[in-house]
Amino acid sequence: MERVYEAKTDCSGCGTCARLCPQGAIAMQADEEGFLYPDIQQENCIDCGVCKVRCPFQQDGHFKEAGPARFYAARHRSREVLEQSSSGGAFTAVSDAVLRQGGVVYGADYDETFCVAHKRAETAAQRDRMRISKYVQSDLGETFIQVKADLQKGRKVLFSGTPCQAAGLRSFLQGSPLLPNLYVCDLICHSIPSPYIWEAYKTLLEKENTGKLTHVQFRSKKDGWSRANSNKGFLFSLDGETVLREDDRFYELFFKVKAITRPSCSSCRFTDVQRASDVTIADYWGIEKYQPEWFDSLGVSLVMVNSEQGAALLKQCREDLLFEERPAAESLQEQQRLSRPGALPPERERFWEDFRQFGLAYVLKNYVQK
Ligand SMILES: Cc1cc2nc3c(=O)[nH]c(=O)nc-3n(C[C@H](O)[C@H](O)[C@H](O)COP(=O)(O)OP(=O)(O)OC[C@H]3O[C@@H](n4cnc5c(N)ncnc54)[C@H](O)[C@@H]3O)c2cc1C
Repeated sequence: MERVYEAKTDCSGCGTCARLCPQGAIAMQADEEGFLYPDIQQENCIDCGVCKVRCPFQQDGHFKEAGPARFYAARHRSREVLEQSSSGGAFTAVSDAVLRQGGVVYGADYDETFCVAHKRAETAAQRDRMRISKYVQSDLGETFIQVKADLQKGRKVLFSGTPCQAAGLRSFLQGSPLLPNLYVCDLICHSIPSPYIWEAYKTLLEKENTGKLTHVQFRSKKDGWSRANSNKGFLFSLDGETVLREDDRFYELFFKVKAITRPSCSSCRFTDVQRASDVTIADYWGIEKYQPEWFDSLGVSLVMVNSEQGAALLKQCREDLLFEERPAAESLQEQQRLSRPGALPPERERFWEDFRQFGLAYVLKNYVQK
Protein backbone atom coordinates (compact mmCIF):
# COMPACT_ATOMS: atom_id res chain seq x y z
CA MET A 1 0.00 0.00 0.00
CA GLU A 2 1.50 3.34 -0.95
CA ARG A 3 -0.66 5.66 1.09
CA VAL A 4 -3.53 5.38 3.56
CA TYR A 5 -5.10 8.58 2.25
CA GLU A 6 -5.09 10.35 -1.10
CA ALA A 7 -5.34 13.97 0.04
CA LYS A 8 -4.64 15.60 3.40
CA THR A 9 -8.29 16.56 3.59
CA ASP A 10 -9.01 12.80 3.96
CA CYS A 11 -6.91 12.15 7.06
CA SER A 12 -7.74 13.41 10.56
CA GLY A 13 -4.57 11.93 12.10
CA CYS A 14 -6.35 9.63 14.58
CA GLY A 15 -3.68 6.97 14.04
CA THR A 16 -6.10 4.03 13.93
CA CYS A 17 -4.32 2.73 10.82
CA ALA A 18 -0.96 2.73 12.62
CA ARG A 19 -2.36 0.95 15.70
CA LEU A 20 -4.14 -1.70 13.59
CA CYS A 21 -1.37 -2.47 11.09
CA PRO A 22 -0.47 -6.13 11.73
CA GLN A 23 3.12 -5.48 10.63
CA GLY A 24 3.65 -2.32 12.67
CA ALA A 25 4.59 -0.78 9.32
CA ILE A 26 2.90 2.59 9.86
CA ALA A 27 4.43 5.47 11.79
CA MET A 28 2.60 8.71 12.55
CA GLN A 29 4.79 11.58 11.33
CA ALA A 30 4.28 15.32 11.78
CA ASP A 31 4.10 17.36 8.58
CA GLU A 32 5.42 20.92 8.21
CA GLU A 33 2.34 22.23 10.09
CA GLY A 34 2.82 19.82 13.00
CA PHE A 35 -0.19 17.62 12.14
CA LEU A 36 0.33 13.86 12.29
CA TYR A 37 -0.13 11.67 9.19
CA PRO A 38 0.52 7.96 8.63
CA ASP A 39 3.71 7.05 6.84
CA ILE A 40 3.91 3.47 5.52
CA GLN A 41 7.31 1.79 5.62
CA GLN A 42 6.99 0.02 2.28
CA GLU A 43 9.52 -2.72 3.07
CA ASN A 44 7.29 -3.97 5.91
CA CYS A 45 3.89 -3.52 4.24
CA ILE A 46 2.12 -6.74 3.19
CA ASP A 47 -0.65 -4.90 1.34
CA CYS A 48 -3.40 -6.34 3.54
CA GLY A 49 -5.43 -3.14 3.25
CA VAL A 50 -6.51 -3.02 6.92
CA CYS A 51 -5.31 0.59 7.22
CA LYS A 52 -7.69 1.76 4.51
CA VAL A 53 -10.61 -0.49 5.39
CA ARG A 54 -10.67 0.66 9.02
CA CYS A 55 -9.95 4.36 8.37
CA PRO A 56 -12.87 6.05 10.17
CA PHE A 57 -12.60 9.09 7.94
CA GLN A 58 -12.95 7.08 4.75
CA GLN A 59 -15.20 4.20 5.76
CA ASP A 60 -18.95 4.41 5.07
CA GLY A 61 -20.92 5.15 8.20
CA HIS A 62 -17.86 6.53 10.00
CA PHE A 63 -18.74 4.44 13.11
CA LYS A 64 -21.70 6.64 13.94
CA GLU A 65 -24.80 5.79 15.92
CA ALA A 66 -27.99 5.57 13.91
CA GLY A 67 -29.59 8.25 16.11
CA PRO A 68 -31.71 10.18 16.62
CA ALA A 69 -29.79 12.00 19.34
CA ARG A 70 -31.61 13.57 22.28
CA PHE A 71 -30.60 17.07 23.35
CA TYR A 72 -30.26 18.29 26.95
CA ALA A 73 -29.35 21.54 28.67
CA ALA A 74 -27.12 20.61 31.59
CA ARG A 75 -25.32 22.36 34.43
CA HIS A 76 -23.13 20.99 37.19
CA ARG A 77 -24.56 21.61 40.67
CA SER A 78 -21.16 22.72 42.02
CA ARG A 79 -20.23 26.39 41.43
CA GLU A 80 -16.57 25.42 41.88
CA VAL A 81 -16.78 22.87 39.05
CA LEU A 82 -18.51 25.42 36.80
CA GLU A 83 -15.74 27.92 37.45
CA GLN A 84 -13.12 25.35 36.40
CA SER A 85 -14.90 24.04 33.28
CA SER A 86 -15.34 25.42 29.77
CA SER A 87 -19.12 25.38 29.79
CA GLY A 88 -21.52 23.71 32.22
CA GLY A 89 -19.18 21.07 33.65
CA ALA A 90 -20.78 18.12 31.84
CA PHE A 91 -17.40 16.47 31.36
CA THR A 92 -16.72 16.47 35.10
CA ALA A 93 -20.10 14.88 35.79
CA VAL A 94 -19.78 12.09 33.21
CA SER A 95 -16.18 11.35 34.14
CA ASP A 96 -17.02 11.28 37.87
CA ALA A 97 -19.75 8.73 37.11
CA VAL A 98 -17.09 6.46 35.57
CA LEU A 99 -14.43 7.12 38.24
CA ARG A 100 -16.97 6.28 40.98
CA GLN A 101 -17.28 2.79 39.48
CA GLY A 102 -13.52 2.25 39.64
CA GLY A 103 -13.21 3.24 35.99
CA VAL A 104 -10.54 5.08 34.01
CA VAL A 105 -10.84 8.36 32.08
CA TYR A 106 -8.91 9.41 28.98
CA GLY A 107 -8.81 13.03 27.83
CA ALA A 108 -6.68 15.91 26.61
CA ASP A 109 -4.05 17.17 29.06
CA TYR A 110 -0.76 19.09 28.90
CA ASP A 111 2.76 17.79 29.32
CA GLU A 112 5.32 19.81 31.32
CA THR A 113 5.91 22.19 28.38
CA PHE A 114 2.18 22.58 27.62
CA CYS A 115 2.16 20.34 24.54
CA VAL A 116 -1.35 18.86 24.29
CA ALA A 117 -1.59 15.08 24.54
CA HIS A 118 -4.13 12.51 25.71
CA LYS A 119 -3.54 11.14 29.20
CA ARG A 120 -5.08 8.53 31.47
CA ALA A 121 -6.76 9.40 34.78
CA GLU A 122 -7.74 7.17 37.67
CA THR A 123 -8.33 9.97 40.18
CA ALA A 124 -10.36 13.16 40.18
CA ALA A 125 -7.16 15.20 40.48
CA GLN A 126 -5.70 13.62 37.32
CA ARG A 127 -9.03 14.13 35.52
CA ASP A 128 -9.22 17.79 36.56
CA ARG A 129 -6.20 18.51 34.34
CA MET A 130 -8.31 17.49 31.34
CA ARG A 131 -10.84 20.22 32.04
CA ILE A 132 -11.01 23.33 29.83
CA SER A 133 -10.81 23.15 26.05
CA LYS A 134 -7.35 23.12 24.55
CA TYR A 135 -7.46 24.55 21.06
CA VAL A 136 -4.65 22.40 19.64
CA GLN A 137 -4.79 18.91 18.13
CA SER A 138 -4.03 16.48 20.93
CA ASP A 139 -1.48 13.72 20.35
CA LEU A 140 -3.21 10.40 21.08
CA GLY A 141 0.07 8.47 21.32
CA GLU A 142 -0.69 4.95 22.58
CA THR A 143 -4.11 5.88 24.00
CA PHE A 144 -6.13 3.35 21.95
CA ILE A 145 -3.83 0.52 23.05
CA GLN A 146 -4.11 1.64 26.70
CA VAL A 147 -7.91 1.86 26.46
CA LYS A 148 -8.02 -1.70 25.15
CA ALA A 149 -5.72 -2.93 27.92
CA ASP A 150 -7.95 -1.30 30.58
CA LEU A 151 -11.06 -2.86 29.04
CA GLN A 152 -9.36 -6.26 28.97
CA LYS A 153 -8.75 -5.91 32.71
CA GLY A 154 -12.49 -5.43 33.17
CA ARG A 155 -12.26 -1.69 33.91
CA LYS A 156 -14.90 0.74 32.75
CA VAL A 157 -13.41 3.38 30.47
CA LEU A 158 -14.53 6.87 29.44
CA PHE A 159 -12.73 8.21 26.38
CA SER A 160 -13.19 11.91 25.63
CA GLY A 161 -11.93 13.68 22.53
CA THR A 162 -12.79 15.25 19.22
CA PRO A 163 -15.33 13.45 17.00
CA CYS A 164 -12.62 12.15 14.64
CA GLN A 165 -10.67 10.73 17.61
CA ALA A 166 -13.85 9.12 18.96
CA ALA A 167 -14.52 7.49 15.59
CA GLY A 168 -10.89 6.33 15.49
CA LEU A 169 -11.27 4.54 18.81
CA ARG A 170 -14.53 2.94 17.71
CA SER A 171 -12.88 1.70 14.53
CA PHE A 172 -9.90 0.41 16.52
CA LEU A 173 -12.21 -1.60 18.80
CA GLN A 174 -14.73 -2.59 16.11
CA GLY A 175 -16.40 -5.91 16.92
CA SER A 176 -14.70 -6.23 20.30
CA PRO A 177 -16.60 -8.01 23.09
CA LEU A 178 -15.15 -5.35 25.43
CA LEU A 179 -17.42 -2.55 24.16
CA PRO A 180 -20.11 -2.69 26.90
CA ASN A 181 -17.58 -1.22 29.36
CA LEU A 182 -16.61 1.65 27.05
CA TYR A 183 -18.21 5.10 27.10
CA VAL A 184 -17.23 7.48 24.31
CA CYS A 185 -17.73 11.22 24.81
CA ASP A 186 -16.98 13.60 21.94
CA LEU A 187 -17.28 17.37 21.56
CA ILE A 188 -18.99 19.47 18.99
CA CYS A 189 -15.77 20.56 17.33
CA HIS A 190 -15.30 23.86 15.50
CA SER A 191 -12.00 22.58 13.99
CA ILE A 192 -8.55 21.76 15.37
CA PRO A 193 -5.48 24.03 15.30
CA SER A 194 -1.87 23.21 14.48
CA PRO A 195 0.56 22.02 17.18
CA TYR A 196 3.43 23.94 15.48
CA ILE A 197 1.59 27.27 15.65
CA TRP A 198 0.93 26.53 19.34
CA GLU A 199 4.67 25.82 19.85
CA ALA A 200 5.59 29.08 18.16
CA TYR A 201 2.98 30.99 20.16
CA LYS A 202 4.30 29.64 23.48
CA THR A 203 7.86 30.59 22.45
CA LEU A 204 6.72 34.09 21.46
CA LEU A 205 4.90 34.65 24.78
CA GLU A 206 8.02 33.58 26.70
CA LYS A 207 10.26 35.81 24.59
CA GLU A 208 8.01 38.89 24.73
CA ASN A 209 7.46 38.55 28.47
CA THR A 210 10.90 37.20 29.42
CA GLY A 211 10.03 34.15 31.46
CA LYS A 212 8.90 30.53 31.41
CA LEU A 213 5.22 29.70 31.03
CA THR A 214 3.80 28.11 34.17
CA HIS A 215 0.07 28.30 33.34
CA VAL A 216 -1.96 28.42 30.14
CA GLN A 217 -5.72 28.43 29.69
CA PHE A 218 -7.42 28.72 26.31
CA ARG A 219 -10.81 29.75 27.68
CA SER A 220 -11.89 31.64 30.77
CA LYS A 221 -15.01 32.99 32.40
CA LYS A 222 -13.42 36.24 33.52
CA ASP A 223 -16.12 38.16 31.59
CA GLY A 224 -18.75 35.50 32.22
CA TRP A 225 -19.76 32.58 29.98
CA SER A 226 -21.16 33.74 26.66
CA ARG A 227 -20.68 33.06 23.00
CA ALA A 228 -19.13 36.51 22.55
CA ASN A 229 -16.58 36.25 25.37
CA SER A 230 -15.88 32.65 26.32
CA ASN A 231 -13.40 31.74 23.62
CA LYS A 232 -11.51 35.02 24.01
CA GLY A 233 -9.46 35.60 27.07
CA PHE A 234 -6.54 33.21 26.64
CA LEU A 235 -4.84 33.42 30.03
CA PHE A 236 -1.26 32.63 30.95
CA SER A 237 1.30 33.19 33.66
CA LEU A 238 5.07 33.05 33.79
CA ASP A 239 7.42 31.82 36.52
CA GLY A 240 4.62 31.10 38.98
CA GLU A 241 2.96 34.55 38.87
CA THR A 242 -0.36 34.52 40.70
CA VAL A 243 -2.04 37.14 38.52
CA LEU A 244 -2.91 35.73 35.11
CA ARG A 245 -2.13 37.74 31.98
CA GLU A 246 -4.36 37.87 28.94
CA ASP A 247 -3.66 37.70 25.22
CA ASP A 248 -6.21 37.24 22.43
CA ARG A 249 -3.95 36.66 19.43
CA PHE A 250 -4.25 32.86 19.40
CA TYR A 251 -8.03 33.23 19.53
CA GLU A 252 -7.88 35.65 16.57
CA LEU A 253 -5.74 33.21 14.58
CA PHE A 254 -8.04 30.29 15.35
CA PHE A 255 -11.50 31.78 15.07
CA LYS A 256 -10.95 34.72 12.70
CA VAL A 257 -7.97 34.02 10.42
CA LYS A 258 -8.79 30.27 10.41
CA ALA A 259 -5.59 29.40 8.53
CA ILE A 260 -4.17 27.28 11.38
CA THR A 261 -6.70 24.45 11.39
CA ARG A 262 -6.12 20.93 10.06
CA PRO A 263 -6.99 20.53 6.35
CA SER A 264 -9.31 17.58 7.09
CA CYS A 265 -11.50 19.85 9.26
CA SER A 266 -12.78 21.38 6.00
CA SER A 267 -14.14 18.00 4.95
CA CYS A 268 -15.03 16.73 8.42
CA ARG A 269 -17.37 13.72 8.32
CA PHE A 270 -18.65 14.35 11.84
CA THR A 271 -20.53 17.62 11.59
CA ASP A 272 -24.01 16.21 12.00
CA VAL A 273 -26.45 14.90 14.59
CA GLN A 274 -25.41 11.30 14.08
CA ARG A 275 -22.37 10.91 16.28
CA ALA A 276 -19.56 8.40 16.67
CA SER A 277 -20.01 8.61 20.44
CA ASP A 278 -22.39 7.79 23.30
CA VAL A 279 -22.60 11.40 24.47
CA THR A 280 -21.57 14.67 22.84
CA ILE A 281 -20.77 17.73 24.96
CA ALA A 282 -20.67 21.38 23.93
CA ASP A 283 -21.71 24.86 25.00
CA TYR A 284 -25.45 25.43 25.13
CA TRP A 285 -25.21 28.59 23.06
CA GLY A 286 -28.50 30.51 22.89
CA ILE A 287 -29.98 29.07 26.10
CA GLU A 288 -30.73 32.65 27.28
CA LYS A 289 -33.16 33.02 24.33
CA TYR A 290 -34.79 29.61 24.52
CA GLN A 291 -35.04 29.03 28.27
CA PRO A 292 -33.82 32.15 30.13
CA GLU A 293 -34.19 30.55 33.57
CA TRP A 294 -31.53 28.06 32.56
CA PHE A 295 -28.94 30.74 31.74
CA ASP A 296 -26.01 30.94 34.13
CA SER A 297 -23.04 33.28 33.70
CA LEU A 298 -20.81 30.40 34.83
CA GLY A 299 -21.91 28.24 31.91
CA VAL A 300 -24.45 25.79 30.56
CA SER A 301 -23.56 22.61 28.67
CA LEU A 302 -25.30 20.98 25.77
CA VAL A 303 -25.32 17.20 26.20
CA MET A 304 -26.40 15.06 23.27
CA VAL A 305 -27.31 11.50 24.16
CA ASN A 306 -26.57 9.35 21.13
CA SER A 307 -26.96 5.76 22.34
CA GLU A 308 -28.47 3.64 25.11
CA GLN A 309 -25.02 3.53 26.70
CA GLY A 310 -25.05 7.35 26.67
CA ALA A 311 -28.54 7.47 28.21
CA ALA A 312 -27.39 5.16 31.01
CA LEU A 313 -24.34 7.35 31.64
CA LEU A 314 -26.40 10.54 31.86
CA LYS A 315 -28.73 8.88 34.36
CA GLN A 316 -25.74 8.11 36.57
CA CYS A 317 -24.91 11.83 36.65
CA ARG A 318 -28.16 12.88 38.33
CA GLU A 319 -26.59 13.69 41.67
CA ASP A 320 -24.03 16.04 40.15
CA LEU A 321 -25.76 17.41 37.09
CA LEU A 322 -29.01 19.27 36.55
CA PHE A 323 -30.39 18.49 33.11
CA GLU A 324 -33.52 19.00 31.03
CA GLU A 325 -34.40 17.74 27.57
CA ARG A 326 -34.60 20.48 24.92
CA PRO A 327 -35.69 20.59 21.27
CA ALA A 328 -32.94 19.63 18.82
CA ALA A 329 -33.86 22.66 16.68
CA GLU A 330 -32.31 25.06 19.23
CA SER A 331 -28.83 23.58 18.92
CA LEU A 332 -29.16 22.99 15.19
CA GLN A 333 -29.79 26.73 14.91
CA GLU A 334 -26.80 27.71 17.11
CA GLN A 335 -24.14 25.12 16.30
CA GLN A 336 -22.75 25.31 12.77
CA ARG A 337 -20.75 22.16 13.37
CA LEU A 338 -23.91 20.08 13.68
CA SER A 339 -24.61 20.70 10.00
CA ARG A 340 -21.43 21.60 8.10
CA PRO A 341 -17.64 21.82 8.33
CA GLY A 342 -15.86 25.18 8.09
CA ALA A 343 -14.10 26.08 4.84
CA LEU A 344 -10.36 26.73 4.73
CA PRO A 345 -9.59 30.40 4.02
CA PRO A 346 -8.28 31.23 0.51
CA GLU A 347 -5.10 32.76 1.97
CA ARG A 348 -4.19 29.56 3.89
CA GLU A 349 -1.22 28.64 1.69
CA ARG A 350 0.17 32.16 1.74
CA PHE A 351 -0.23 32.29 5.52
CA TRP A 352 1.84 29.12 5.95
CA GLU A 353 4.50 30.28 3.49
CA ASP A 354 4.79 33.53 5.44
CA PHE A 355 4.90 31.64 8.75
CA ARG A 356 7.69 29.36 7.51
CA GLN A 357 9.69 32.21 6.04
CA PHE A 358 9.18 35.00 8.56
CA GLY A 359 7.78 33.41 11.75
CA LEU A 360 4.80 33.88 14.03
CA ALA A 361 5.38 37.54 14.95
CA TYR A 362 5.20 38.40 11.26
CA VAL A 363 1.95 36.52 10.54
CA LEU A 364 0.37 37.94 13.70
CA LYS A 365 1.23 41.44 12.52
CA ASN A 366 0.08 40.87 8.98
CA TYR A 367 -2.95 38.64 9.41
CA VAL A 368 -4.28 39.45 12.89
CA GLN A 369 -3.31 43.03 13.64
CA LYS A 370 -3.59 44.47 10.11
C1 LIG B 1 -10.93 22.10 19.49
C2 LIG B 1 -12.28 22.28 20.14
C3 LIG B 1 -13.31 22.85 19.41
C4 LIG B 1 -14.58 23.02 20.01
N1 LIG B 1 -15.61 23.55 19.27
C5 LIG B 1 -16.83 23.73 19.84
C6 LIG B 1 -17.94 24.28 19.10
O1 LIG B 1 -17.81 24.59 17.91
N2 LIG B 1 -19.12 24.44 19.75
C7 LIG B 1 -19.28 24.09 21.07
O2 LIG B 1 -20.37 24.31 21.63
N3 LIG B 1 -18.28 23.54 21.77
C8 LIG B 1 -17.07 23.35 21.19
N4 LIG B 1 -16.05 22.75 21.91
C9 LIG B 1 -16.37 22.15 23.23
C10 LIG B 1 -16.38 23.15 24.36
O3 LIG B 1 -15.30 24.03 24.25
C11 LIG B 1 -16.29 22.43 25.72
O4 LIG B 1 -15.19 21.56 25.72
C12 LIG B 1 -17.48 21.60 25.99
O5 LIG B 1 -18.57 22.47 26.07
C13 LIG B 1 -17.31 20.81 27.30
O6 LIG B 1 -17.34 21.66 28.37
P1 LIG B 1 -17.38 21.08 29.86
O7 LIG B 1 -17.57 22.26 30.76
O8 LIG B 1 -18.34 19.97 29.93
O9 LIG B 1 -15.97 20.38 29.91
P2 LIG B 1 -14.51 20.75 30.39
O10 LIG B 1 -14.38 20.42 31.84
O11 LIG B 1 -14.10 22.05 29.95
O12 LIG B 1 -13.72 19.55 29.66
C14 LIG B 1 -13.03 19.64 28.49
C15 LIG B 1 -13.21 18.35 27.72
O13 LIG B 1 -12.70 18.57 26.41
C16 LIG B 1 -11.70 17.61 26.10
N5 LIG B 1 -10.69 18.33 25.33
C17 LIG B 1 -10.11 19.50 25.64
N6 LIG B 1 -9.25 19.86 24.68
C18 LIG B 1 -9.26 18.87 23.76
C19 LIG B 1 -8.50 18.65 22.57
N7 LIG B 1 -7.60 19.50 22.10
N8 LIG B 1 -8.76 17.51 21.89
C20 LIG B 1 -9.65 16.59 22.33
N9 LIG B 1 -10.39 16.76 23.47
C21 LIG B 1 -10.17 17.90 24.17
C22 LIG B 1 -11.17 17.10 27.43
O14 LIG B 1 -10.64 15.81 27.28
C23 LIG B 1 -12.44 17.16 28.26
O15 LIG B 1 -13.20 16.00 27.98
C24 LIG B 1 -14.78 22.60 21.34
C25 LIG B 1 -13.72 22.05 22.08
C26 LIG B 1 -12.48 21.87 21.49
C27 LIG B 1 -11.35 21.24 22.28
